[in-house]
Amino acid sequence: ATPIALLVGTGRGAQMGVLIKGPEVLETSRGIDTIVLDKTGTVTTGTMTLTGTVRADGVSEDELLTIAGALEDASEHPIAKAIATAARTRLGTLPAVESFQNVEGLGVTGVVDGHAAVIGRASLLQDWAVQLPADLQHAKDSAEADGNTVVLVAWDGQARGLLLVGDEVKPTSADAIRRLRALGLRPVLLTGDNATVARRVAASVGIDEVIAEVLPAEKVDVVARLQAEGRKVAMVGDGVNDAAALAQADLGLAMGTGTDAAIEAADITLVRADLLGAVDAIRLSRRTLTVIK
Ligand code: ADP
Ligand code: MG
Repeated sequence: ATPIALLVGTGRGAQMGVLIKGPEVLETSRGIDTIVLDKTGTVTTGTMTLTGTVRADGVSEDELLTIAGALEDASEHPIAKAIATAARTRLGTLPAVESFQNVEGLGVTGVVDGHAAVIGRASLLQDWAVQLPADLQHAKDSAEADGNTVVLVAWDGQARGLLLVGDEVKPTSADAIRRLRALGLRPVLLTGDNATVARRVAASVGIDEVIAEVLPAEKVDVVARLQAEGRKVAMVGDGVNDAAALAQADLGLAMGTGTDAAIEAADITLVRADLLGAVDAIRLSRRTLTVIK
């Protein structure tokens, strides 16, 4: 039979906005020593905005935003939404897309106004044999050093410019990470974003262990690797790309604002959608386990 304390703990969680899938979840959280945190939408707000553009010679900003905006309009990614919104605000309407492909964790490709376009990470452009000229490479490096996520735009085989996007660290993240440390947990930042941006965010919230440039399908492997090292792992995430890792973790926590896939895969949903909810969840399970031990 289920110990009454677990049921009471589950009920208390609900009052705090910590929705626990079943009483046994509190027991599985015994001995958690590591907490893996997704960056975008978990440590940061996930509400991306376009903060700037850089254009190759002969490319206008309207042209850059037309092609990138039209293509990203077909994607659900927070970066895509930021680009499409900025483009529509500036240009009114966007042209129809003739073909479209989402490349998970890398970007998008497709045809707009007769141009075959590739938009996303450097490795995606490399896959399409697009070279990044030295001036754009420089601009990319310095924008990343400033904490921007840089989206590369190419069409008809040539790099045409950069789109700089960013979001903000949630106001409660640093405090929550301090509290998680005080509970004896080692925080690890896990992200598909580039290492410079990831390290910057990590430093601003007090995390020193950073695993960046991880493809969506690889997040689960990172969690499994930490477990193989003998660590007992909680994971907090929000994205479709976090779902498998949330299921793999000893304790999976999804942001209430997250995708259905993340919420379904997780053991706990944090209604308040910030990391203080994770602190409450860990504290609650420890308190409950002390009572029943
Ligand atoms: P996170 O792990 O931080 O939630 P993702 O795995 O969703 O990030 O994305 C990783 C990276 O892939 C992004 O930082 C971005 O560089 C690139 N990317 C993914 N989707 C898109 C898109 N639709 N347009 C442009 N870039 C994208
Ligand atoms: Mg995310």
